[in-house]
Amino acid sequence: MPTFLLFDIDGTLLDTGGAGGASILDAAEAMFACSRRDLPPLMLAGATDGGVLRDLFSAVGKALTTEARAEFLQLYLGFLKRRLHAEDFAGRLLDGVPELLAQLSRDSQVHLGLLTGNVRAAAQLKLERFGIHPFFADGAFGDDADDRNHLGPFALRRMSQACGHELHPDEVILIGDTPKDIACAKAIGARCLAVATGQFSRSELELHAPWRCLENLADLNESTSLLSKNSMIR
Ligand SMILES: [Mg+2]
Repeated sequence: MPTFLLFDIDGTLLDTGGAGGASILDAAEAMFACSRRDLPPLMLAGATDGGVLRDLFSAVGKALTTEARAEFLQLYLGFLKRRLHAEDFAGRLLDGVPELLAQLSRDSQVHLGLLTGNVRAAAQLKLERFGIHPFFADGAFGDDADDRNHLGPFALRRMSQACGHELHPDEVILIGDTPKDIACAKAIGARCLAVATGQFSRSELELHAPWRCLENLADLNESTSLLSKNSMIR
C-alpha cells in the first residue's frame, strides 16, 4: 500500500527567517501607500495567503477584487524573490528535513506532495531557494481556497493524477506545525503528524489530537519509521 505524504511548508520544512511575512508587508505598503507600522499584525501560522489578504484588505477598507488580488500577489512575489535571495537572508531548512526528504524519496511506495497555504508560485520560490522543490509531485496551494480545510480534496485529486493512483484518505499523512494542519487532515479523514518546529509547542499541538506529534524532524529513524510504508499500523 502506497503512502502519500503532504507537507506544509513554513514552520514544517523551512523557516524563511521572516522573509515571507516581510514581503507581504512590502506588498501592502506598495499597494496601499501606507506604512507597515499602521497595519495590524499578520496572523500567518497555518493561514492561507488568500486568508491573509482578506484580513489585510479588510483592515485597510479596500475591496479584495480578483484584479486587486492578482496585483497584490504579483507585488508580493517580486518582494519575496528579492528577500529570499538577499545577502541578509536569515532563512533555513529545519533540522533533518533534507535528510528526511532524500530518504523518503528513495522509497518507491512513498509519494511526496504539498498541502500549504502558500500560493503555488510562492511555494515554488521558497522550496527552490533551498533546492527541495523537485522532491514534490504536486499538491494543494493557497490559490485553491482561502480556508485551509478546503485544500485537502485539491491535494488528493492532483496527487492521484501525478502518481496514477486513486488516493484513499487512509494512505495519506499530512505533516504540519499548527492546529490548522491537524484540522485540515481531519477534514479529509487523513492522519496528521504534527511537528513543534513552528509557533506551537508539542503540548499545544497535542491538545488538538494529531495522529502523532514530534518535537522536530531531526531524528531520521524516528521520522522515517512514522512516515514510511512500514509504519502503516495505526
Ligand atoms: Mg506551517
